[in-house]
Amino acid sequence: MSQYPKPLSRLIEELSMLPGIGGKTAQRLAFHILAMEKEDVTALAESITDAKEKMKYCSVCGNLTDKDPCGICSDEKRSRKYICVVESPRDVAAMERIKEYNGRYHVLHGCISPMDGIGPEDINLRSLLKRLQSEDVSEIILATNPTIEGEATAMYIAKLLKPAGIKVTRIAHGLPVGGDLEYADEITISKSLENRKEL
Ligand SMILES: [Zn+2]
Repeated sequence: MSQYPKPLSRLIEELSMLPGIGGKTAQRLAFHILAMEKEDVTALAESITDAKEKMKYCSVCGNLTDKDPCGICSDEKRSRKYICVVESPRDVAAMERIKEYNGRYHVLHGCISPMDGIGPEDINLRSLLKRLQSEDVSEIILATNPTIEGEATAMYIAKLLKPAGIKVTRIAHGLPVGGDLEYADEITISKSLENRKEL
């Protein structure tokens, strides 16, 4: 990368820090950006800083939002009886795509992974327990990813909630093992929600 002048090599370096962008792609994108109209580049740069500035995590559910509480939490038409627990805001988007779920969410921002040193205290779990004290919830649907870590996280939460007497269900395994909820198609997500089992 050092063969390029400083401003260009810096752009390539920043781009290559994005997920899925290797060195070659970063170079291609950087050259593309330099060939773009100045106002288009400004709009792109502004949209990045604007999104970063205005988007935050909902103080209730942890979903990404530009207002707090988020649109789902403040929607009176949505049932307060159900809370669907997912790993990331992208999973909320995936669940919303099927347009069948009318409850609310809780975003963990990760999953328990002892191998990576991530314990229950490191994910957004404490606030879920707090919610259960103040909200009248009758079912917790665990929709963590069907990975080893996702399963372990679901089991951990199920055990934690059992004494509280709340019904805890796990979405069915129509989802490919090791896969991510966000990449599953609508029918698969819909089926896995429909066939959820009580833990
Ligand atoms: Zn929310």
